[in-house]
Amino acid sequence: MAAELIDGKKVAADIKAGLKTEIDGLKAQGINPGLAVVLVGEDPASKKYVANKQKACEATGITSFSHKLPATVSQQELITLVDELNNDPRVHGILVQLPLPEGLDAKEIMNRISPQKDVDGFGPDALGKLMLDEPGFISCTPHGAMKMLEAYNIDPKGKHAVVVGRSVIVGKPLAMLLLRKHATVTIAHSRTPDLKDVCLKADILCVAVGKAKMITGDMVKEGAAVVDIGINVTPEGKLVGDVDFPAAKERAAYITPVPGGAGPMTIAMLMYNTVQAAKMAAGMKVEV
Ligand code: NDP
Repeated sequence: MAAELIDGKKVAADIKAGLKTEIDGLKAQGINPGLAVVLVGEDPASKKYVANKQKACEATGITSFSHKLPATVSQQELITLVDELNNDPRVHGILVQLPLPEGLDAKEIMNRISPQKDVDGFGPDALGKLMLDEPGFISCTPHGAMKMLEAYNIDPKGKHAVVVGRSVIVGKPLAMLLLRKHATVTIAHSRTPDLKDVCLKADILCVAVGKAKMITGDMVKEGAAVVDIGINVTPEGKLVGDVDFPAAKERAAYITPVPGGAGPMTIAMLMYNTVQAAKMAAGMKVEV
């Protein structure tokens, strides 16, 4: 039986529509959510992501402050910019698009962003709070993955969730969020022997690796929910995920497409975090 498509584009559109209404209300109270987006260099994929984020800001009513810097910018110049944005009351969220060009220390830059403005949720404060089950900014891609499951009433409670990939920005936080929702979680990575065997045990299979077709149809348990976070460009220039979609959809009960799944959800959750940051700055109660 072919899987039901998890329409991330639609779920993201619904979230953004809700945010737009909320932002209209905030503006009426004099609160104007603002997001600073910093792009360093000319990486075409990064440029596209930044453009999409700015488009989403416009659509929801968030003011976006764009900072485009040459790849030759020094670490110190970038730190100075982050410090300025940390101190700018119009800016509630700061996003530095990764990856940064060679020679720049991304970790130092991420750690420099004020925890109150870390809407990407990549810094130690946000990640620490996630581990401690305390409210804090949740990184946008894992948060978006959870929201897609929620939108399709896929409750992780009691299920076996397998997360393939253990990066700090996707795999690890996603595993923590699934655990928070009472799944039994396995994290797989490049040193996991017999990945197929591990994946076949997954009621919920989330993949964030960055290798096209690394999850073949025979690695998907019948009836599983598959969340494909990977983004790959084929030699023909087509955007695909990490999962062999046509084969996997014949076995899964639910599956996210690429494009149209995790990508739009990531942007929607960035808008969500920015609104929460603006409310926090105004001393309002927030849900992060
Ligand atoms: P990283 O490169 O940081 O992490 C990749 C992970 O995959 C690592 O943990 C690595 O293991 C693991 N891995 C590599 N090869 C294998 C293998 N053969 N078997 C099992 N695991 C393996 O990537 P990110 O987490 O940053 O991103 C992952 C993918 O998600 C990329 O395609 C990226 O473009 C996409 N992405 C999409 C977003 C969206 O908005 N849709 C946002 C962010 C990322 P190890 O740790 O052992 O090296």
